[in-house]
Amino acid sequence: MDDFLVFEGLSKSFGAVQAVAQVSLTVRQGEIFSLLGPSGCGKTTLLRMVAGFETPDTGRILLGGEDITDLPPNRRKVNTIFQNYALFPHLSVRENIAFGRRVARQPRAEIERDVDRMLELIQMEAYADRRPDEISGGQKQRVAVARALINKPRVLLLDEPLAALDLKLRQHMLMELDLIHDEVGITFLYVTHDQGEAMSLSDRIAVMNHGRIEQTGAPAEIYEAPRSSFVAAFIGDTNFFDGVASAQSGADYLRLTIEGFPPVLCYNDKGISVGAPVNLSVRPEKFSLSREEPAADPLRNVVRGQVEDVIYMGAQTKYWVRVEAYRLAVTLQHRRFALDEKPITWNEAVWVSWHADDGFMLERYSEADEELMNTPPEEVGEEWAPEESEGDAAGSPAP
Ligand code: ATP
Repeated sequence: MDDFLVFEGLSKSFGAVQAVAQVSLTVRQGEIFSLLGPSGCGKTTLLRMVAGFETPDTGRILLGGEDITDLPPNRRKVNTIFQNYALFPHLSVRENIAFGRRVARQPRAEIERDVDRMLELIQMEAYADRRPDEISGGQKQRVAVARALINKPRVLLLDEPLAALDLKLRQHMLMELDLIHDEVGITFLYVTHDQGEAMSLSDRIAVMNHGRIEQTGAPAEIYEAPRSSFVAAFIGDTNFFDGVASAQSGADYLRLTIEGFPPVLCYNDKGISVGAPVNLSVRPEKFSLSREEPAADPLRNVVRGQVEDVIYMGAQTKYWVRVEAYRLAVTLQHRRFALDEKPITWNEAVWVSWHADDGFMLERYSEADEELMNTPPEEVGEEWAPEESEGDAAGSPAP
């Protein structure tokens, strides 16, 4: 079903702050859909409107064709998983998982059967009788997932569910969430500010900025063909160039004049006309570096530079290369045993080259966006704290 969870013109303000501004979006049944953006961009507010914890100022939310905008949380058939797990400390793993169904007064035998299935799904059969303070962070998160799934929600809402875990465990839990999703097949709506998490888990991603959706698409689409400079910079590293389209080159390419940089050839998929200002983005891994001048190719840009910095990162090396007024970020993947090679090093003169199709022309981002992209998450939105007294359809305690 292509229009399973639909947001129509949703807006929400808190006093003078517009948290969500005219968001329209469609989530398909069974997909893992992520809301991704910097802290304060409105993604949690959007999720809370789906859960029923916030009421939109304008707009509607439809689930499977039904308007759920004004339904109370416990009638929406959605469940939320919070960052801090929100397990009941005095109940065992088994009792935590069963809780929502017990509250709904369902037959005991049926609940027990489903709890057993959930314990198997999260591979926690051996821990069923432990209390939350007797299991690890990753295990608590799995119990939180089981406790939500046992209610058979139509949509599982996940609000930065892995933020409290360390990097290794986060990567492990991402794989587990993916497997659990494959097993149960329900729709996941996932909120995160971590682009790596969103890229590895999601079928599709909506990138948010200042309460609006900047772009929606599959992870590769968003990474390779970002619509705006904000998206290009937020999802991964990139190099930006400010230029002007100075000449047409064949039917499909433009020659760009960039102040403080040699002329550049770029594929023109946006129908940009000669004379227009252009913001060009080239990802660091699209560049090649060599000591020898590359063989001539009319569709390859080749510029001369000097290495200013080298950062060895195991699988890759990151170079900073000075080319006139620009300092380019270049990453090279190690394909051979690095110690046998004589890698390009600091201060060397090099040729930097890239194919004209590998540069991407974009809209320019505003100064406010730039500031937000450079602000650490903990400094944004610190003027408020979430309310203490809410639960979701499973009757879970306050997050
Ligand atoms: P984070 O990743 O930090 O949770 P977010 O993208 O989820 O950020 P929201 O929590 O949706 O962002 O907040 C969006 C904006 O709305 C922020 O400026 C925030 O300070 C503000 N906001 C959210 N909830 C409230 C509230 N209950 N009262 C006042 N302002 C709020």
